[in-house]
Amino acid sequence: MSRSIYLINPAEQTPGYHSLEVLADWRIANVVNLADLSTPTIAALVPRDWSVTICDERVQRVDFNTVAEVVGLTGKVSQRDRIIELAAEFRRRGKLVVIGGPYATLNPDDLRPHADILVRGEIEEIADRLFGDIATGRFEREYEGTRPDLSTSPVPRWDLYPRRAALAGQVQTSRGCPFECEFCDVIQYLGRKQRWKDPDQVVRELDVLYGLGFRDVFFADDNFTVMRRRTHALLERVAEWNRTRPAGKVRFSTQASIDLARDEDLLKACSDAGLTATFVGIETPNQQSLAETLKRQNLRVNLADEVTKIVQAGIMVMSGIVIGFDHDDTSIFEQQAAFIATLPVPAIVFSVLTAPASTPLYARMQKEGRLVSHARVGAGQFLKSNFRPKLMSATELETGSAWLLNQVYAPDAYARRLRAFVDASPVTPGVTGPPRFAPLEMAIAARLAQHGAGELRLVRLIEELFAKRADLRDRLSYLLAFYCQARFMIAHHGIWNPGQAAVAVVGRASA
Ligand code: SF4
Repeated sequence: MSRSIYLINPAEQTPGYHSLEVLADWRIANVVNLADLSTPTIAALVPRDWSVTICDERVQRVDFNTVAEVVGLTGKVSQRDRIIELAAEFRRRGKLVVIGGPYATLNPDDLRPHADILVRGEIEEIADRLFGDIATGRFEREYEGTRPDLSTSPVPRWDLYPRRAALAGQVQTSRGCPFECEFCDVIQYLGRKQRWKDPDQVVRELDVLYGLGFRDVFFADDNFTVMRRRTHALLERVAEWNRTRPAGKVRFSTQASIDLARDEDLLKACSDAGLTATFVGIETPNQQSLAETLKRQNLRVNLADEVTKIVQAGIMVMSGIVIGFDHDDTSIFEQQAAFIATLPVPAIVFSVLTAPASTPLYARMQKEGRLVSHARVGAGQFLKSNFRPKLMSATELETGSAWLLNQVYAPDAYARRLRAFVDASPVTPGVTGPPRFAPLEMAIAARLAQHGAGELRLVRLIEELFAKRADLRDRLSYLLAFYCQARFMIAHHGIWNPGQAAVAVVGRASA
């Protein structure tokens, strides 16, 4: 009879934009931006008479000597190798290993050999059967989840999570997205019919996070604002909740599509509720590429204008930018660099287009015989796709992308976008506070300033803006850490080459 489980969120294989490995590397802090949501959610579905322990390997060591009989592993494609390593080690130690989560769902064939039990899909409606079977020892090798009504999703067990490890908590208010971008695996995993928690349920989750001291919360939705009526109802409730917090308001961030910019009422409702930042998949200024990838919501609008409208409503934008569509030739690198320079968006999350497993793009690449050898896991590597690009070589795609990253993250280019963001952001009156960096920001700024004259200028600019714009301090602080992490990630992959900023675009060499 198994009555104890050890739930692990495995470490990512390499640093990403949103993690904060740089702070550990600089011996400043051992934290992540976002607390893991999956392990506390699963923990809440485990029967109450079981003993449950959570490990977020991004900030904690895995306890291989755990007394738990069952080990649960979850994760995305970026955690794939570590899931397999941990599964092998715990099985060697006689543990029953259960693997689930997005990657297990999208690519079950890859993980099946490594699990005693594989769980595909969402777990809420099958949790009782799964844990009941494990407890009796008569379990199946594989369980298939459902697309549950989210009103059945419990409040995550944040009490089991290492609170101090994360700067922000998470609440998922909806799952799914009605759009159909060709490369998107979210809609394969969670569907196009969006499902919602009701506003009171969301507030119950917020109460728990607030009680634990979180003052930053990420709404972990795939597309928070796309269903207008439900978002208005939720924001109204959240605004009311936030207005009455006894120990200060919470700042929210989320993910939304660009159509948010068209709706002034919704922008205002977001801002009134306390939404201060959102990720938006801008992808590309290349209209043919947007049409090719079925990103219709980004077509026939001036993307820079639309982004600016969101910023002017008081919501910082972090942009996803992608290169490697079938309509991208080597001119795309300069085109993207010029486009990005017009955005009031310092935080650019750049990636090379890859075809995740189970997506229409993967099926198309397979049909066209363009998948490359490591495509089995449905992922590329840093700046390398898992399929052959159409109008340039794989080498041109990689070297051009490296060039673009060096342009985008040259300190002066980042500083220009940062100033544009601040200039476009409305002033929120009545916000006060010390006009100087707190000790954490001071430590980060001091390390960054050592990197060179450009970095020192960037630090001075942030310091100056910090003193002038008390209402933007949280975002300036985020952008300072984000820049350091982006640079750390680029350097980790060995492509930081500041001298390249002045060199002609690599793509031209192939024309
Ligand atoms: S808008 Fe985002 S979540 Fe929705 S289908 Fe496109 S990529 Fe996926």
